Amino acid sequence: MKVFFTILICRLLRFVGKLIGKGSSFPGQVALKLCPDILSRVQLPAYIIAVTGSNGKTSTVEMIAHILQKNGKRVAWNREGSNQIEGVTTLVLGSSTLGGKVKCDILLIESDERFARYTFRYIKPTHYVITNLYRDQLTRNGHPEWVYDALADSICDGTQLILNADDPLVSCFGQGREDVIWFGADKLSSDTDTLQSAYNDGAYCPVCKKPMTYSTYHYNHIGHYQCTSCGYRRQDTAYTITAVDLDRGEMEIDGKYRISLALKSLYNIYNILAAYTVARIVGIDGAEIAADMSDYVLKNGRVITFTLGNRHGTLLTSKHENSVSYDQSLRVASAFKEGCDVLIIVDAISRKYFTGDVSWLWDIDFEMLNCDNVHQIVLAGTYVNDLALRFEYTGIPAEKIRCFADINEAADYLGNDRTEYIYAITCFSDKGKLLARVKED
Ligand SMILES: [Zn+2]
Repeated sequence: MKVFFTILICRLLRFVGKLIGKGSSFPGQVALKLCPDILSRVQLPAYIIAVTGSNGKTSTVEMIAHILQKNGKRVAWNREGSNQIEGVTTLVLGSSTLGGKVKCDILLIESDERFARYTFRYIKPTHYVITNLYRDQLTRNGHPEWVYDALADSICDGTQLILNADDPLVSCFGQGREDVIWFGADKLSSDTDTLQSAYNDGAYCPVCKKPMTYSTYHYNHIGHYQCTSCGYRRQDTAYTITAVDLDRGEMEIDGKYRISLALKSLYNIYNILAAYTVARIVGIDGAEIAADMSDYVLKNGRVITFTLGNRHGTLLTSKHENSVSYDQSLRVASAFKEGCDVLIIVDAISRKYFTGDVSWLWDIDFEMLNCDNVHQIVLAGTYVNDLALRFEYTGIPAEKIRCFADINEAADYLGNDRTEYIYAITCFSDKGKLLARVKED
């Protein structure tokens, strides 16, 4: 009876919440108050796939859901991205009968990396994807090794780990475990022999802390690494990006499946690879997955094309306090051969808490914008002076840079008669301020 009433109340609250446009974590919060172990009392499907990591969780989960649904699977997943235990509870109870049976073939859970240990106390994933661990939200998460420890507590016996082999810290989760599937990229034409990043989180072995060497870098500290002391090295991969042509917008997986890319970024190809890996494990044919992923445009609003005055542009949602996500967006802009202007907004650092910490600006490789493809750079928002100071160290000629504390003034300025494409790079917390001023395509 307790299960019945808890599910009923959760679903009623969810229904009302949807009507009034409320978030999806409150119904789960109430359910957990009524019955703290409700998640262990429901009957779960055979596949429980969890996805976590610093970056790419939401996009990867969306892609997995897309492929599985296209291939006839019934998938319950947290499309709102409410990824702490309350949101996951809402998802699970919202997808179950009043008797407590979850009505799907696959439960697909995006999980916050710090809170995964609470969620997976009750729900044990059958498959657990870890995408990457980067410097992310310093004021909340500290450093990546701290997050590593928190995540390690969330891994249960009997769960198959699906790990990014090219991330040295993520790969540590596979140490001493039998049931691990590795995904990653071969040496690619876009790789570099030396590190291209403002800092090096791959300098030291995460196992023994001695220096590491790389035979190739895909981006930042993601690549083919080997410890000079203890033998820790990148693992061979079961599912592999075998070629990428970002100019043409194509990738190849496992030497035979070609996928054309709606978003030409290395980030995107890793998310696609992670989704491909999961779908293959579930039993979907590789050619089907490639067809489903070709030209797939994410629906999660991370990439939005727009018109401002007579000009066209793309908003690349990045994450404040997360330099790798900025680096990826900057790479897209700096590779735009037709020539572009770049707008960067730092106005509210977080949506969820107040912080005035801007140390992460110094981790971002803004030097990438010091190239012929980038014509003008517009900096905007409350932290424009911190941005301007950072840009003084990039070597970019001062006449290329304009600064506006007011985002509306920056938009007015950009809505001019120039013909260059605009790349706008900012965070969830600030993107609405730009979108209010442009026409979304
Ligand atoms: Zn080592």
